[in-house]
Amino acid sequence: MIRFASLGSGSKGNALLVAAGRTRVLVDCGFGPREIVARLARLGVEPAAIDAILVTHEHADHVGGAASCAARHGWAIHASHGTASAARQLADCTVRRFDSHAPFAIGDLEIHPYPVPHDAREPTQFVFSDGARRLGVLTDAGAITPHIVAMLADCAALVLECNHDAAMLAHGRYPPQLKRRIAGNYGHLDNRAAADLLRTLGGQKLSHIVAAHLSEENNTPTLARAALAEALGCTPDWIAVADQANGCGWREVG
Ligand SMILES: [Zn+2]
Ligand SMILES: [Zn+2]
Repeated sequence: MIRFASLGSGSKGNALLVAAGRTRVLVDCGFGPREIVARLARLGVEPAAIDAILVTHEHADHVGGAASCAARHGWAIHASHGTASAARQLADCTVRRFDSHAPFAIGDLEIHPYPVPHDAREPTQFVFSDGARRLGVLTDAGAITPHIVAMLADCAALVLECNHDAAMLAHGRYPPQLKRRIAGNYGHLDNRAAADLLRTLGGQKLSHIVAAHLSEENNTPTLARAALAEALGCTPDWIAVADQANGCGWREVG
């Protein structure tokens, strides 16, 4: 069985905990050492139980705490070649570089990285498997590609970016250049793009959907839930949201 929980999600810091058997990995570490220990404690996890951090890309909300946390707790760091080269924060670390198209294993977890369009050097997202069930993770993507759809097919659980509501972003107070970056093909998925992906994938096999990386400025949990619920034909309360302060609690994919 795969289990997962979010330690926090959004532009101020991200970390997702994924576990199978005796293996526990973090996807990203955008929190410092003291903060990550406190957030792990809320989930009942000791730092010593973590095996590795998988870094999706070099933006600070994903890699900011990786080096310091890994050094303190002896965690391995894994990243694509491009991310490892581009992340200044990882310059003094030993990084295990993976091919962004090649599956690998850490303990009891199969990890299938896949590249996504985002304004970073070699950003990757992940599908996790215990050999039976698949958990798909997708944040920090400016567009949905056929490859993303192929990777996320057959997932029993999804952590899916709902960064912004297009109208809130358009009418909000961000400068025009930043609005263009966020809404562009190398920016972030809005609620509608996330909902369209769910329509494409079909929701029949999904036992969990967690909306993630919501903008606190340009989105609300209510809007994100409504968009995804409409796509799945379910009630909004079935859609979970991983927020910046609290993330979301453990979910079991089984
Ligand atoms: Zn991000
Ligand atoms: Zn990013």
